Amino acid sequence: MITHDVVVIGGGLSGLRCAIELHERGVDVAIVSKVPLIRSHSGAAQGGINASIGSDDSWESHAFDTVKGSDYLADQDTVEILCKEAPDRVLEMEHWGTNFSRKDDGTIAQRPFGGAGFPRTCYAGDRTGHNILHTLHERILRAGIKVYREWLVTRLVIEDDRCLGFVAMDLLNSELEVFKTKATVLATGGYGRIYQKSTNAIINKGFGISLAYRAGVPLQDMEFVQFHPTTLWGTNILITEGARGEGGYLYNKDHERFMKDYASSSMELAPRDIVARSIQQEIDEGRAFPGGYVHLDITHLGKDLIEERLGGIRQICIDFAGIDPVEEPIPVQPGQHYSMGGISSNKDGATPASGLYAVGECACISVHGANRLGGNSLLDTVVFGRRAGVHAADYVTSLGETSDDPLTQALDSEKTAISEMMGNDGESYSSISEELKRTMQENVGVFREKKELEKAVEDVKKLEARARSLKVRTEAREFNLELLNAIELKGMLDLAHVIALGALVREESRGAHYRTDFLERDDKNWLKHTLAYLTPEGPRLEYKDVNITIFQPQRRTY
Ligand SMILES: Cc1cc2nc3c(=O)[nH]c(=O)nc-3n(C[C@H](O)[C@H](O)[C@H](O)COP(=O)(O)OP(=O)(O)OC[C@H]3O[C@@H](n4cnc5c(N)ncnc54)[C@H](O)[C@@H]3O)c2cc1C
Repeated sequence: MITHDVVVIGGGLSGLRCAIELHERGVDVAIVSKVPLIRSHSGAAQGGINASIGSDDSWESHAFDTVKGSDYLADQDTVEILCKEAPDRVLEMEHWGTNFSRKDDGTIAQRPFGGAGFPRTCYAGDRTGHNILHTLHERILRAGIKVYREWLVTRLVIEDDRCLGFVAMDLLNSELEVFKTKATVLATGGYGRIYQKSTNAIINKGFGISLAYRAGVPLQDMEFVQFHPTTLWGTNILITEGARGEGGYLYNKDHERFMKDYASSSMELAPRDIVARSIQQEIDEGRAFPGGYVHLDITHLGKDLIEERLGGIRQICIDFAGIDPVEEPIPVQPGQHYSMGGISSNKDGATPASGLYAVGECACISVHGANRLGGNSLLDTVVFGRRAGVHAADYVTSLGETSDDPLTQALDSEKTAISEMMGNDGESYSSISEELKRTMQENVGVFREKKELEKAVEDVKKLEARARSLKVRTEAREFNLELLNAIELKGMLDLAHVIALGALVREESRGAHYRTDFLERDDKNWLKHTLAYLTPEGPRLEYKDVNITIFQPQRRTY
């Protein structure tokens, strides 16, 4: 048994920021990550991080944009924290060494982003996540924080609503081990790879979210899935919103800037849900290029600006599409990008199970509501990562000893479950996983309607039944990726079920959840959060109120 006061599961921005806080407060903290820390998806973030550090900007204005962007589903008390703490966290990253792009006077440069009333997005070229992740990683190394690198957490141990630790597998040799903790922080990122077309890293399968769900913690607002408007046609690698922030245009096949028909004043800088739907509508109504894409044109920005501020996406276009955006427009289409929903947690990242925290993309603290604004997720990771660290440090000092029995029992039953998965005589994970991605892509996408959502729920149920006889053929102990994929597949099915069912039941259109059979937002019946609990029959849905403090819901136009 491995013992630490606190273990943070996840080495992305939220996990690292949390671990640093705990270490600075004198807590014995360790990090577990299934990949080397700097391979976390946070490192792929391009466009930037929001903070109202401009002289004519304010946290209130940032909060208003965030709440309006969320289609009024965000909890306004947590949005207030996010926006008030933003300048401190961004300046902290600067002081710790993040290489932000600068204005001529040396201050941090900011670019316009979708749905924002001010140019509020601080950036490091178009490699912002990479820069911040390395800043935090270097601090982790300096602090000497223990890292369990390439370990997969497979089960949380929660007894009487208190988290006692977890079981994890060392991927080097497939050995299972149990960790005893006073507090555990889930910082495990998003689930993009339950869709066929996603900007997310291959590792983003949402397994951490399902760990909490399987242990009895509710998932919140899972039906709200963000589709990014501009992903590179063919591979769906992200082309940052920064490309439009710097002045890029969207054209259909008739060379029309079609955004004039959908968001006449914000045009290309309307929020993501609106731009993604507009592009999809152009595709569906035959005004896109054959194969289903539109053009994102940045050629008029000139080579120097593109090299300086959009060098990363230029390289991506050259390497993955054979197109140089200095010379030619970029073919783009919408793709899954971000999970607004996640593990239900509060302003300190605490979940309903004591000693269990969730921060970053795996959590739903509800600052993004039904649609997240670009640049607000990196911010969410550092603001709530730090806050969870502060809270958990306090929490662990007040705890007494607990019994080891539930932990050793969990280890034994996990060992049995995994050894039963080995063999030749069952389903393989890959066909189930491909079918899952297909049904999610086809039936729970940018536009949704009853029949398709019902089909998705039925498909997922059938796949869940098939997954019960899942078998792993590869016997190797070292880095058995078939085993890893098989374990994670069950979590992907959990999430898909919750997303599809939540979307089917929510009979309105709000933010990224757009029902072609219920076109309007319905505040009377649906201004509420969804909570999903796991039962033997599948997800059980409950609802809870949205916290509205300053901004009363209004019609959302751009
Ligand atoms: C291409 C791309 C560009 C983006 N650009 C921006 C942007 O410009 N601005 C912005 O605000 N947001 C952006 N986002 C969103 C933002 O980057 C992410 O939401 C955020 O970085 C997530 O951070 P995280 O700490 O929650 O998780 P991640 O960085 O995803 O890290 C998750 C960690 O959890 C670990 N893990 C997961 N499951 C397990 C397990 N079972 N056991 C052990 N370890 C586990 C992984 O190893 C990893 O270390 C972008 C996202 C993408 C995909």
